[in-house]
Amino acid sequence: MTTALLVLASGNTGKLREFHQLLAPLGIKVRPQADFGVIDVEETGLTFVENALLKAREASRLSGLPALADDSGLEVDALNGAPGIHSARYAGEPKSDERNNARLLASLAEMPEGHRKARYWCVLVLLRHAEDPVPLIVQRSWEGEILQAARGEGGFGYDPLFWLPDQAASAAELTADQKNRLSHRGRAMQALVAAMNAGQEQR
Ligand code: IMP
Repeated sequence: MTTALLVLASGNTGKLREFHQLLAPLGIKVRPQADFGVIDVEETGLTFVENALLKAREASRLSGLPALADDSGLEVDALNGAPGIHSARYAGEPKSDERNNARLLASLAEMPEGHRKARYWCVLVLLRHAEDPVPLIVQRSWEGEILQAARGEGGFGYDPLFWLPDQAASAAELTADQKNRLSHRGRAMQALVAAMNAGQEQR
């Protein structure tokens, strides 16, 4: 892999922490977009991939570096896919994980166990430069169910409400290593690294 230094197109501290954990063992150095004065772009896309492209392009333009962006969110079947691309601001401005989780619990209050299926999505976009016409794009999901009450202290966002039947734990009860191995973001990162390596062989 030739990309030694990337700008991370995110201001979300939970995501930044996970990206550091995921990329450090690969020898990829990352700097948050805030180091270059990049603030969150308006996410005007209707899909995760559009929003990830907007973020990556802006971070690359202002930093002059290759950019990695993540757009992610939670899709709940009983809510017709909400909060989806609006996950970060489900309970409105200013964005708050605590209020988002309270709104999610309230929205599903009438839904019994067995009708609370959900999945996280993560789309990763890597741009070599701001006008890169061939972005690398991968997307992965992580299946779970929404709990009736929060469990665990780890992770971020909706993790205390995201139950993993296979693990008999919420995402917030996993260790950082476990979450990175299983999660939408962790597996998207593995796929992106594979795509980067395959791309280099083709060039
Ligand atoms: P984004 O920063 O616009 O991509 O918004 C992502 C939002 O989706 C976050 O603010 C969280 O609410 C939610 N989300 C994405 N990934 C995770 C995760 O791994 N755990 C918990 N919440 C997540």
